Amino acid sequence: MRIVLLGAPGSGKGTQSQRLVERVGIPQISTGDLLREAVARGTELGRQAKEAMDAGRLVEDSLVLGMIRERLGEPDARKGFILDGFPRNLAQAHALDRLLETLKQPLDAVVQLEVDSRELVRRIAGRRSCVDCGRVFNLLTSPPTGAAALCPKSGAAHRLMQRPDDNEATVSERLRVYDEKTRPLIDFYRARGLLQAIDAEGDVDAVTARLAQVLHVPALRRPKRTAVRRAALKRARKPARKKAAPAKRVRAGAKRRPPRARRAKPARASAARGSRRRKSTRR
Ligand code: ADP
Repeated sequence: MRIVLLGAPGSGKGTQSQRLVERVGIPQISTGDLLREAVARGTELGRQAKEAMDAGRLVEDSLVLGMIRERLGEPDARKGFILDGFPRNLAQAHALDRLLETLKQPLDAVVQLEVDSRELVRRIAGRRSCVDCGRVFNLLTSPPTGAAALCPKSGAAHRLMQRPDDNEATVSERLRVYDEKTRPLIDFYRARGLLQAIDAEGDVDAVTARLAQVLHVPALRRPKRTAVRRAALKRARKPARKKAAPAKRVRAGAKRRPPRARRAKPARASAARGSRRRKSTRR
């Protein structure tokens, strides 16, 4: 499945992408994350991108396209991907079309996350992410509490940080850039018959359910067989006390089959004889 998530800063592209990753098992490719990584590592690309990012402008197309081309060429992207934050203008959308055409991997859907602009500003102000695992939280709407309180990487409480570009001045510029450069992509993808729009306000789980519905994927997370869960399952399966086995219920009219062990024995014995014979002839 190849998907683009389209939406203004703060519309929840990152949060919903992470939830889709858990459900569909395809990678999230976020140009914002890749660029922040490059800045943190101090690479040449990061150095060139930093100024535009700090000012809330778009990073040059040639840099972003090079990065995307490389990322889509990696093996895990062959089974599909969720593009988060890319494309962001018409030139990038056309370049993506051409790239996917050469890879023979056309897009399946583009989902637009609709959020009111006042709500966007409120969300961005409360947004924090974990330094260690990268998970995104919101102090107002989805704080790191309950089952989400511990970081899966460090095993301790999440170390939360605010993105440097989530300050008031940069946010208003990012929203302006979205309206001017990215919003036209809604018509671009609608004309191609790929666009699905969903209401991305309200409860995070409810938004995930709407997203799952338009993409025809399961709305619930696939259960993870963690060590704790495996131990709990084992305990649940183990009988507390040894009791006499209860009589099996047999459906009326069901044919009785001979017990498995008795049927299996002769076959296994002859197989063993056969292998012994083969060994002895080889010697
Ligand atoms: P948000 O969607 O909240 O603005 P992102 O993490 O997607 O956050 O992007 C952060 C910044 O990275 C953007 O403001 C921009 O400077 C840069 N960026 C991300 N994706 C692109 C892109 N496709 N083209 C150009 N610049 C980008």
